Amino acid sequence: MKLLSAILLKGLESNLQCTDVIDGNSGEAPKEKFIKFKPPLYRQRYQFVKDIVDQHEPKKVADLGCGDTSLIRLLKVYPCIEELVGVDIDEDKLRWRGDQLSPFLGDFLKPRDLDLTITLYHGSAVERDSRLLGFDLITCIELIEHLDSGDLARFPEVVFGYMSPAMVVISTPNSEFNPLFPTETLRDSDHKFEWNRMQFQTWALYAASHYGYSVEFTGVGEPPAGAESVGYCTQIGIFRKNEGKVTEASVSEQCQERAYKAVFTASYPSLQQERFLRLVLVNEVSRQVESLRLKHLRKLKEEEERMLGVKPPEVDSDFPAFGPVFTEAEKARIENSPKPFVLGTKFLVPLQRLMAYPKLCRICPSEDMMRSLIDDCVCLSSDASAVVVDLHDYYDYLFDF
Ligand code: SAM
Repeated sequence: MKLLSAILLKGLESNLQCTDVIDGNSGEAPKEKFIKFKPPLYRQRYQFVKDIVDQHEPKKVADLGCGDTSLIRLLKVYPCIEELVGVDIDEDKLRWRGDQLSPFLGDFLKPRDLDLTITLYHGSAVERDSRLLGFDLITCIELIEHLDSGDLARFPEVVFGYMSPAMVVISTPNSEFNPLFPTETLRDSDHKFEWNRMQFQTWALYAASHYGYSVEFTGVGEPPAGAESVGYCTQIGIFRKNEGKVTEASVSEQCQERAYKAVFTASYPSLQQERFLRLVLVNEVSRQVESLRLKHLRKLKEEEERMLGVKPPEVDSDFPAFGPVFTEAEKARIENSPKPFVLGTKFLVPLQRLMAYPKLCRICPSEDMMRSLIDDCVCLSSDASAVVVDLHDYYDYLFDF
């Protein structure tokens, strides 16, 4: 692998050589020198990763060479991801935007279903750190072209051989596209090389076969009409590990190695944490009980008005037009569950009725669990089968009850 990288770099380090490829076809390429991508190319690359996440729903994702953590900020909203890691050799970049990865007020008001921890490490993608083992997806977006020949030679061994995630996405500039830009030099002064498609694919296929991966090539940044032969502006390799996911056992077999320094870590509130589950559940139970109580009072008022000969408004009072929309099956489940009832001055809503509402059932899958979680915060009937509230409360006059 080292030999291959050295050959690729030695012979083809200069972008000018790559430019020769396009020069040979310059008659076919348009002379347009101001290519503008819509959406911008960096967003297309992020979108590409987001599509991969949508498709494969990885739990653990690491972004090597994460820079200012823009991609991590986009990925943190994905409900499937439980662990997000960013690694960069430039500590200042991590510190600059890292704080924006902390949970906001909204994350506490509407906690995620699953836990999420985000960690940023200062370190190099070519160093071994056992905290990067067992990942489902590792992305290296516009990273490899920043590696010198020594680091590039180490990269496959560390990323594919050691970290060994189920999937790796590597993007890098396609030098065949460069002649379409105003200046035909490297795209960034820190780039150590820019490869044409043949160079990238040769390197990628060798790494894939050596470490037991398959690789598929694609890209983002369509060439303009007439220059299709140059390929995408950004070339991308999607590597899939042949035997699938790494098992926990094989991860724990690896000895603990620590090369990275954690510079930021955040844990997001989630319904897996009891205090947030309780908070959300009590809030939703109270909201549902209040909605049923008001509905009951509305029905009483309508009956009273009917007796007095007042024509009632035509509304489907069980399932009003506003609020959650239920499927027919959900409506049937709610209607077939025990109904709320009145005992003296109290209004009682059976827990079984509450469990029939899809949102509550999703938050809390069993009646016993609901009972134990809300017990401290709401009033339950003596047999603990129903939530009890006053039939009338101080604010009812607002609704003319
Ligand atoms: N991936 C980000 C994106 O697409 O927005 C940033 C890409 S930026 C062009 C390249 C990043 O790789 C820089 O933030 C740089 O500090 C980082 N980098 C360079 N060499 C690295 C190495 N050996 N290990 C980790 N990060 C490295």
